[in-house]
Amino acid sequence: MATVEERSIVHFGSNLKRLGVSRVSLTWDAASQGMRASHYALQPLANRIAADPRDFDAHEAVFLAYDHDLDVMFVAAIHRTIRGQGAGGVRCWRYDRAIDAIIDGLRLSRGMTRKNALAGLWWGGGKGLIAYSDGVDVQEPGRRREIYAAYGRFITSLRGCYVTAEDVGTSVDDMEAVFSATRFTTCVPPRLGGSGNPSIATARGTVRGMEAALAHLDKGGLEDKTVAVQGLGHVATPMLMELQEKGVARAIGTDIDAATVDEGKARFGDWLDARIVDRGDNAVLAEDVDIVAPCAVGGVLNKETIDTIVAPIVCGAANNQLADPLTDDRRLQRRGALFMPDFLVNRMGIVNCADEQYGYATGDSKLEKHLGTDWDGSIYNLSLRILAEAAESGATPAGIARRIADERSAEAHPVWGHRGAEIIASLVRDGWADATD
Ligand code: NAD
Repeated sequence: MATVEERSIVHFGSNLKRLGVSRVSLTWDAASQGMRASHYALQPLANRIAADPRDFDAHEAVFLAYDHDLDVMFVAAIHRTIRGQGAGGVRCWRYDRAIDAIIDGLRLSRGMTRKNALAGLWWGGGKGLIAYSDGVDVQEPGRRREIYAAYGRFITSLRGCYVTAEDVGTSVDDMEAVFSATRFTTCVPPRLGGSGNPSIATARGTVRGMEAALAHLDKGGLEDKTVAVQGLGHVATPMLMELQEKGVARAIGTDIDAATVDEGKARFGDWLDARIVDRGDNAVLAEDVDIVAPCAVGGVLNKETIDTIVAPIVCGAANNQLADPLTDDRRLQRRGALFMPDFLVNRMGIVNCADEQYGYATGDSKLEKHLGTDWDGSIYNLSLRILAEAAESGATPAGIARRIADERSAEAHPVWGHRGAEIIASLVRDGWADATD
């Protein structure tokens, strides 16, 4: 019989209700080198996630709360907080099974640890999810506001070991509802003192990664190059605008949403060959262009798609593009495609958000330094360093980037040390999971 986490999120919620539980914590136990569940009945779930080396990496905690009124599950996956509070956006997404959401949280939060560390931010890695089953309405405006406010209360309950932000499926307006219920958020609308939409900065950073890849391969700049983009959303649109400005000769773009494709056509005219595709259609990755840019969802670089890639460079904004992070970077290398690790080039969204905690300036030097060539930690310079080291050693760029990121993520915050672990321990001690709200 399928275990409860293999059933739908709604089913998982009903099971928790039967157990008289609405919150679950799964926390790292250094003594046993495993995860400890708040409730005995959920220990098999803790053991299961800790046994998966592909997605699990001594995560400090996973907090789950099922909202029985709204039929959504909130997740805060906290990978590592040595450099600072876990930081990363909230993804609002439909999942077939509860375990899929939890695994997504594990994977995304580890990616955030790496992204934040490589960017030199004093933040750890975390990820939030508003996970729901097919048939649950998360769009109706009143209900949506309630969902995001409830998510904000969930974040407040975590006492700041995780600081949330915007991610796929969440808008800046949604962040206003989150902000109404917690101070532990970034990506707040500008009218409330935040930095707003991070996508433009993310697009600029991804373009810097493309330029570094071209320079590494001695292919000059972006002028006259061709680019194929998967997804025509918030990041891809300003990215295409910048590519057009920089002289890219032609672009191809796909999206699963017809209105988005029409907008792309209207904005870019003949320069962009915008096509509507079915979900799961990855043919755009096989286009014969100079650069392929996955800017939709994760996991698109897998056994099947990699064998179709002919472009010499893969550089996009989507998080977790490698379906199997342990093997797919090698597969790309064997294929002759230079893969720019997403957590290296798509950092600007979180840089933009994380920095807003410390005030905000137009033309902010703290932000611009990531996009320039003066600082050795900028996207362009760090990319060149990683690519050179990879070429010299035979390792993959993703492997080198992971190593540097993992080393940096083990450096303690200069003021607060490993405070996140202390907060998590206090939540467990104080019975966070026993609350019934
Ligand atoms: P978005 O939702 O605005 O855009 C994604 C687009 O991809 C949508 O238009 C969607 O319809 C389309 N899409 C989904 N599946 C597709 C498929 N199979 N083929 C083609 N199109 C498909 O999201 P976004 O903010 O532009 O983010 C894009 C990616 O970049 C995401 O993976 C996100 O996690 C990542 N990212 C975004 C930021 C940011 O600042 N927004 C920062 C870092 C990483």
